[in-house]
Amino acid sequence: NMITNHPPTKELQELDAAHHMHPFTAGAELAAKGARVITSAKGVTLTDSEGVELMDAMAGLWCVNIGYGRHELAEAAARQMRELPYYNTFFQTTHVPAVALATKLAELVPGDLNQVFYGCSGSDANDTNIRLVRHYWAAKGKPDKKVIISRKNAYHGSTVAAASLGGMSAMHAQGGLPIPDIHHIDEPNWYAQGGDLSPEEFGLERARQLEQAIAEIGEDRVAAFIAEPIQGAGGVIIPPETYWPEIQRICDAHEILLIADEVICGFGRTGNWFGCDTFNIRPDIMTIAKGLSSGYAPIGGSMVSDEVAEVIANAGDFNHGYTYSAHPVSAAVALENLRILEEEKIVDTVRDVTAPYLAERWTELADHPMIGEAKVCGMVASVAMSPDKANRAPFQAPAGTIGLMCRDRCFENKLVMRHVGDRMIISPPLILTKDDIDTLMDRAYRSIDEAY
Ligand code: PLP
Repeated sequence: NMITNHPPTKELQELDAAHHMHPFTAGAELAAKGARVITSAKGVTLTDSEGVELMDAMAGLWCVNIGYGRHELAEAAARQMRELPYYNTFFQTTHVPAVALATKLAELVPGDLNQVFYGCSGSDANDTNIRLVRHYWAAKGKPDKKVIISRKNAYHGSTVAAASLGGMSAMHAQGGLPIPDIHHIDEPNWYAQGGDLSPEEFGLERARQLEQAIAEIGEDRVAAFIAEPIQGAGGVIIPPETYWPEIQRICDAHEILLIADEVICGFGRTGNWFGCDTFNIRPDIMTIAKGLSSGYAPIGGSMVSDEVAEVIANAGDFNHGYTYSAHPVSAAVALENLRILEEEKIVDTVRDVTAPYLAERWTELADHPMIGEAKVCGMVASVAMSPDKANRAPFQAPAGTIGLMCRDRCFENKLVMRHVGDRMIISPPLILTKDDIDTLMDRAYRSIDEAY
């Protein structure tokens, strides 16, 4: 078949252009130049159909936490496919992978988030969250508490509801988003928006926008606040230290459920198992996906606190679920991924060895004349490019031109790095070694230089 015996690159590109609609892509533009065909990967390295090897400093889409090519996950999938490839958990049944993974997650996730509602991705998990929090408040006799407060430039997924929760204006502009009863406040992006305030003052100011929004909308109408511990697709915005404690205080003071979207931060990315551990957040619900299976199989879900789970459990049928909720093969793969993360002490190595080294090397970029900010948390990092770094000035329109050029230079220099406007970001596999970090830095520095 065409997978085991594929045609040459040019023909693949033509077939791709003829039959495959790419996400977040200008189709005609890509068709004209042809997509790069990735054929295999191992560790932190991708290989394309021309035999070129690239270091993947994005871990796919922030997800291949244990790195590529781990045969144990393939074995786990094959074993589960032979034993029980599919069954649902809708109608009074369960299965071993569903139970085993749920039990493991309850152990790993902080606090009392002891129940999981399974889905297939971060997007559908956030859809689940909307239904969960509104159903929860209705069950508690407060059906008017249904507004969900989120943040501008947040990314919570691409379904209609998840993209509505998200704060990406380019997404809202297509398809009539957001859906009703979602409210967006400003994000804690001190570099771009902090003005003369110190990061600490700005963090407090931004967190207090949540309290203002609650006051304006009315506490009796607000169900929840959702946020990523570190805003990922928004440009790796690491919040000032004052931000999360104040958000937590406000949610506690106003009876607002707190949803931590850990789709990127979860499973070791920030140097702890969860972003909530790093920022000391105590959410009522946590969105998980990506690193849960290191991207080897689609799976996501919502971790739910004992209190919320109990209210939902006593409120009759929860009329919600996906055919592939608790997919046995994905659950088996996720379980094997978690075993590897734990037994090989990958998160500990990130925290104690590689993240400190990445921080040391990455922040050297701030000495570059055109880099206004270089930030790192665990194994996720960003730089802001600026023509006038003393004033944290952005490049003039069209924004993102330099970022795009830099991204393309990275490709030429055999590095996959992403750009969000004129911020360059990385989120590499957590198994990156110190030597890999040196290689990454050489290629990143060269690419940034060449972009100017
Ligand atoms: N939430 C966050 C924070 C994300 O970064 C993403 C994807 O990048 C999602 C949700 C959506 O996840 P998925 O693409 O698996 O639907």
